[in-house]
Amino acid sequence: MAHHAYRVGELTMTPIRQIIDLRSDTVTRPTAAMWDAMRSAPLGDDVLGDDPTVARLEETIANRLGKESALFTPSGTMANQIAIRCHTQPGDELICHSESHIIHYETGGPAALSGCSIRSLTGVDGLFDADAVDASARPESIHAPRSALVEVENTHNRAGGTIWPIDQFARVAEAAHAHGLAVHLDGARLFNACVAAGYDPSSFASHADTVSVCFSKGLGAPVGSALCGRRDLISRARRFRKMFGGGMRQSGILAAACLHALDHHVARLTDDHANARRLSRALSNINGLSLTHKSEQTPTNMVFFDLKATPSDAAPARTLCTQLAALGVLMLPTSAVRVRAVTHLDVSAESIDSAAFAVRESLLSPIPQPSSR
Ligand SMILES: *Cc1c(COP(=O)(O)O)cnc(C)c1O
Repeated sequence: MAHHAYRVGELTMTPIRQIIDLRSDTVTRPTAAMWDAMRSAPLGDDVLGDDPTVARLEETIANRLGKESALFTPSGTMANQIAIRCHTQPGDELICHSESHIIHYETGGPAALSGCSIRSLTGVDGLFDADAVDASARPESIHAPRSALVEVENTHNRAGGTIWPIDQFARVAEAAHAHGLAVHLDGARLFNACVAAGYDPSSFASHADTVSVCFSKGLGAPVGSALCGRRDLISRARRFRKMFGGGMRQSGILAAACLHALDHHVARLTDDHANARRLSRALSNINGLSLTHKSEQTPTNMVFFDLKATPSDAAPARTLCTQLAALGVLMLPTSAVRVRAVTHLDVSAESIDSAAFAVRESLLSPIPQPSSR
């Protein structure tokens, strides 16, 4: 996209030469070193069980999370859906927060693939407590669905990248287990939580029966997630992965990228968190938007903010994102009034400043359309 400098009021808009893509941390491209790792990975046919790089990734991530075994999957959605399938029977009910990824972004998977209904809990920042589990786990009854599973998301996406305190998760898991329910952790961004909160991935994961993690989010791999848990459960999970169409052949190419990400892209997540805070700080000076979290409380690598709907614009989030896109800055409307920006490996502090500038200019004055210049 070509960008020309232009004047808005007294200001000259800095031309943005490169698209600044803050829609998600999934948009990263492999680094040169990651490509090298992918190119030189020993390969086999993983469905036949002999891709050594996939085997090494599964062993590595299982160890990192303190679990017996792991399964490499093409997506985090598949890892979550396989976990739900393993833990439930048709007619069962699963308990999770009302803003969960598995409710909003997995296309009704629990109903379609596992025949489950969902009992959703509310709570600030995507969190809930052990009392809520006690209150929603159903007693054995011929009338009621069987409660089977509690699912927790850390960091919590729709709540703004918020972090579960480890003690609170331990109490929730203890309550779930006391009722005979399994616990699944959607840890798509677990490493962001660990780096920000200073707890160990295996300490947090120790309270869960199964854990899914994404390599394709902040860790910067092009494709790939893993489901970790007990050996017998992961053996069943391997059958469901095949059933759901997720058996992959020379997937060591992808696993090599994930191994590289685990070695080189975990500690640097603090850079993304610093950039999110930087963006949030810059946005906090702009009239007409309100941040979901105060800038000094930016939890991890996400920034959410709300705009005011007006009689002339009922969906200002989409309007702003369209204006920003014309300036080469991509953000995501997550509702009519809410905008999401996510920092990652491919955005610098400098481009964060340009993005904030673009938001300010867009909200200050309607952006001249490119055709009118
Ligand atoms: C991204 C994400 C997933 C998995 O998404 P895929 O695009 O299927 O890999 C799962 N849970 C959460 C919370 C996520 O943000």
